[in-house]
Formats: sequence, structure tokens, C-alpha cells
Amino acid sequence: MKLDPTVLRTMHTNDFRVLEAVEQGMKNHALVPLPLVSSIANLRHGGVHKIVSSLLRDKLLSHEKKNGHDGYRITNAGYDILALHYLKTRKQIAALGQKVGTGKESDIYLGATPSGKQVVLKFHRLGRTSFRNVKKKRDYFGKAVQQAHSWLFLSRLSALKEYAFMKALHDVQYPTPTPIAQNRHVVVMSLVRGMPLYQIFPKQLSADQAADIYQQAIGIAARLARQHGLVHCDLNEFNLLVDLSGVQSLATQDSDDPYVRHSGQSVAGEKSMGALSKPAWEQSLEQGDDLTVMPEPAERLENGEPKPVVTLIDFPQMISIKHPNAQELYERDLACLRKFFEVKLHCQIPEDEEEHVSWTSIMALQPESVQTRLDSELKASGFSDAMGRGLELYYFDSGPHTAMDHLNEEGEEEEEEEESDNEFDDEHDVEEEQVNDNESSSSSDPVPKQDVKETT
Ligand code: ADP
Ligand code: MG
Repeated sequence: MKLDPTVLRTMHTNDFRVLEAVEQGMKNHALVPLPLVSSIANLRHGGVHKIVSSLLRDKLLSHEKKNGHDGYRITNAGYDILALHYLKTRKQIAALGQKVGTGKESDIYLGATPSGKQVVLKFHRLGRTSFRNVKKKRDYFGKAVQQAHSWLFLSRLSALKEYAFMKALHDVQYPTPTPIAQNRHVVVMSLVRGMPLYQIFPKQLSADQAADIYQQAIGIAARLARQHGLVHCDLNEFNLLVDLSGVQSLATQDSDDPYVRHSGQSVAGEKSMGALSKPAWEQSLEQGDDLTVMPEPAERLENGEPKPVVTLIDFPQMISIKHPNAQELYERDLACLRKFFEVKLHCQIPEDEEEHVSWTSIMALQPESVQTRLDSELKASGFSDAMGRGLELYYFDSGPHTAMDHLNEEGEEEEEEEESDNEFDDEHDVEEEQVNDNESSSSSDPVPKQDVKETT
């Protein structure tokens, strides 16, 4: 599915109200009947039928008839558009650029804030890669995922958790992207310079730089466990971004990264919520901006080479060290890292290298007020213990993402499967059952329903 934000330009307040009415109706109905859409939207002059038709044409809604029920549901595109609309009306983003990555459970897009700062938008898409385990996941979540739309709910939970963790960790100076905003299943964060570790080849870096990245990575794992009582659970070459030039620092991420130039007028302004054809730095190069001054690395290694800057991303699957599987998952993180550095980057890692970060040594120094800060951060964002447990089960079942997952038997990158909004529905009978789901989608969105009118 291609995300086309240009549809936002032609949408009016009532279109968003109707789309949101379907979203709300889906808390309790797999397919929302038209009279219910109409009563939730409560348009002063009516006209729901016409608006629904135009939303269907733009593929923001789908109309289905199943098991004698006739109704509407919001599509992935519709959900994307609602989130973008809210981020835009709150002036958290002004433009959406190219898709720059496809994660295990997400799509990553470039974007820009109204002031022209480049950001990343992570659209959480839970369930996309895990349809073979769909039955198991249904068992985990019980009724909450017995309906197709629950993937929207799970994706939103995942974004909520990611944002809360990123914020809490960033506040205590972990090398994470800067969290900027979250709405529904979308997290907005600063754009991190560099590339994922798995894309780095041995010839691109020295042995000292590789060893330094390894030390930083296991240092992060240990600090998370020791000081904050957390296990990342997916701390591997896919979730560590590395800037080998050593330029990016927390400071440059927050202010202006010298590599991220903006052409200003192309991203600011009301009308720019369209596809940015090129990233700002590329436009900047074409305009002949002077990029000859190379910024200095923030730090250097003893041998004088730039000290690589490592940034940790991807937080929805993090767990507490009190979790029954915490040790296993912590050790799995360390083992994945070791394997990558030994096999792919040909590092010689001494047998006892991880002794100081072993589970036993971490547990020997049990911190007292473990997770206090994160707990309050999470509560403030509406993230309950029950939500956390559900997500943990989901992610735990998905397993780690290793370098081998990407490659087929010939060692080539595997084609990504085309996704469809109906994948889940294909093997699922839609039921008219009521889901007792207090934490469901959008119920705790910071902007109450009556504000929709004013902000659109
Ligand atoms: P998933 O949960 O689906 O694995 P990730 O958060 O790991 O998603 O992001 C997937 C990819 O997107 C990363 O490997 C990285 O290449 C890119 N990415 C994610 N966040 C950022 C960011 N803030 N800056 C730059 N690239 C990013
Ligand atoms: Mg990832």
C-alpha cells in the first residue's frame, strides 16, 4: 500500500468527522453500520452518505458484507490519514517525504516540521509479518484481536509504548532519536544520521571502530538493565544506527544537524502536506549549497579516528528485568551482537569480554527504584500494565530479527510481500461480538472529539 498524503488537501472537516466516526464505531464493531456512523458523526446538515462514498473512492474506508452484516471499516490508509491530519493540525509536522525504510513491523517515512526540520515518521503496522501466527496471537489477546480491526489497536499501542520509552530514555541521556510527537500508530522523531549497523561492511571501518561500536552496544544493554531495569529484547544490528563520521551527537540531533540542510520554502506552509519529491539535503545539493565544510567528529578514538556515534532505536518490545524471560532475552541480545560482530565484521572478541555485563553481574547490583521513572512516564501517556503485557506477548512471539532473516538460500535479499488491508480478514470470520475494550483506539487521544471541528 502506498501512502498518499495529498488526499489531505481536498478533505474537509466533515470528512474527518465521518472517518473518525468509523474509527470510533470499530471499537465495538468489526463492520460499522451506516446509521451508527451517522449518529457518531452527528453532522449538523447530514450528508454522511455522500461523504462515505468519497472516502470509499479514496480507499480510506472499505465497505463489506459478511455473515449478514453490512458496514464500513477504516483501511490502513484511512488510519494513516487520520494520524497525519492530527499531527498536521497540531503543527507537529508540515510535510511527508519519501519512504526511507520498511521495518519488521513498520514503515518509515521522512517528514518535515513547520520550521523545516527533517524528521522521521514511524508508522507502526503490527500483524503485517506475522499472519502465520495469527491464531496464536488471537489466543494471546483474547477478544481484543478477535476482530480484524484490532491490528489498528495493537499498532497504536505499540506506537504509544515506543514514544513513552523513547521519551523516558532520551530524558536520561540515552543515545535515542529525539521523540517529537505521537498520534494513533505514528511516532514522530528526529532523523538520525548514519546507517543501520547491518548495512556496514568490514572494509568500511577499522578494527578499532568496530570494537568501539561493540563496546557501546553492550554498554547500552548493560546500562538499560542495571540502571533502569530494562531489557531491549531486539538489540541487534537492525536497531543500532551508526554514524561512522562521528559527527552526530545528541546535541546535533536536537538542533540543526549540519548534514541536514533545508530548502525552507519547499517544506513549510499549509499546502505542503504533499509528497516531497526529494529529501531536503538532495534538493539542497542541487541548489548548489556549499557543503564543502566537513563538520568535525564530536569525539575521536585513541588512534585519532572518528569515534562512531551509535543510536538505539525501536522500543516497543522492551521489557522489565522482572519479566520471567528477562534473562533469556537479555542474553539473546548479547549473543546476537557477538555473532554479528564476529561473523559479519570479523571481530576477535575475547571469550570473557561480556563478563562485566553478564546477567549475574547485573543482578548482583540490583538497583532499588528500578523503572520508577519509566512507570510514571508510561502512566502519564495512558499506557496501562495490561496493555504492556499484551504487547510483550505479541513481540515475544515474533522473535528477534537477525541478519539471516533477510536473506534467502542464495544469500540474496528477499522480496517484500505485498501487503493488503484484507490479509487478516481472509482467514477470519467477522463477528458482530461486542468487545469490552476500554483501552481501545482513540479513546484516550489527547484531543477530545469536539476539538476536531476547530482544528480542521
Ligand atoms: P521496526 O520496529 O519495524 O523494526 P525500526 O524502528 O527498527 O522499525 O525502523 C526500521 C528502519 O528504519 C531502521 O532500521 C532504520 O533504517 C530506519 N529508521 C528508523 N528510525 C529512524 C530514525 N529516527 N532516523 C533514521 N532512520 C531511522
Ligand atoms: Mg527494528
